[in-house]
Amino acid sequence: MSLLDGLSKALGDGSVEIVDLTAPLSATTPILQLPEPFANTIPFRLEEISRYDERGPRWYWNDIHTGEHTGTHLDAPVHWVSGKDGHDVSQVPLRTLVAPAVVLDFSAQAAANPDFLLSIDDVTAWTAEHGALPDGGWLLYRTGWDTRGHDQDAFLNADDTGSHSPGVSPECARWLAEETPITGLGVETVGTDAGQAPGLEPMFPCHELLLGAGKHGLTQLQNLAALPPTGTLLVVSPLPIVGGSGSPARVLALVER
Ligand code: MN
Repeated sequence: MSLLDGLSKALGDGSVEIVDLTAPLSATTPILQLPEPFANTIPFRLEEISRYDERGPRWYWNDIHTGEHTGTHLDAPVHWVSGKDGHDVSQVPLRTLVAPAVVLDFSAQAAANPDFLLSIDDVTAWTAEHGALPDGGWLLYRTGWDTRGHDQDAFLNADDTGSHSPGVSPECARWLAEETPITGLGVETVGTDAGQAPGLEPMFPCHELLLGAGKHGLTQLQNLAALPPTGTLLVVSPLPIVGGSGSPARVLALVER
């Protein structure tokens, strides 16, 4: 049997499961809220063109209003000034869009401290147990934040000192960008950086360093708890928006059961 015939058979008999890591996209999907004086994105919205009515008697369709960085989405290198000479979202290599993934679970740490920052030691302790990070693959950072995705306030978890959500330390972001073979970092939060990342040095270190290194971000993932630490094949499907800095994406995980 060919490899792909074997995969089709495994999908049919359930020995390979498809797990949807994508947050539903609707007008209530949480979106980033930057403080003044920065400009913000719009909420997702459907605008009805016709619905089996005089505007189109036999058909239903909508226009969509969305930001590039809305819901589960991919960040391309050009999203950040450090990656401005890199590729846009239409140019992301296909090998990045279908690639192995590992899952690092720090949901207990994030539950105890919403400002938890992943450190180099955290990652090297994980690799000592599970093996190296995948060459050309994704590091998926589980924090349990997906359970807050139904509610914008719980998701952003903001007070008068800003948003409090887990992220990655600047040292670890630099190390992931420059010293590891991953193509990108996937998270459950509204962006790849911590809620308090505006105050880190550099500010927004995952964006600054990973995108600056030609790598990628993937945000608002769900259901990482259903994935094993290693052995997942990730399928990421952003829209090929020409010149775009990112795109909402359907993200699927293939997992052996
Ligand atoms: Mn983004």
